[in-house]
Amino acid sequence: MRIRKGDTVLMISGDEKGKRGKILKLFAKEKKAIVEGINFIHRHSKARRSGEQSRIIEKEAPVHLSNLSLICPKCGKHTKVGVKILKDKRKVRICKRCEEMIED
Ligand SMILES: [Zn+2]
Repeated sequence: MRIRKGDTVLMISGDEKGKRGKILKLFAKEKKAIVEGINFIHRHSKARRSGEQSRIIEKEAPVHLSNLSLICPKCGKHTKVGVKILKDKRKVRICKRCEEMIED
């Protein structure tokens, strides 16, 4: 998985192309993620009792990972993620633009 929870990503396709947000939740199996502020769905919540108001709930819906690109925290550009193996055999993600390490 190249994108992780807490990463800032850019929408690279779809209606909300160009928007950016933080990954709040990842669904690895479905290859989807909930991104803060992106892909809102509106749901009507009907009043069940009298006196209660019906309201519209806004909630982020999952976005497919193929619509997202990681924004490098170092150079601030959206980038492809590479993998580098450190001397201690630890695998880290790197930005393919500036080659800086991307912290988890
Ligand atoms: Zn970078």
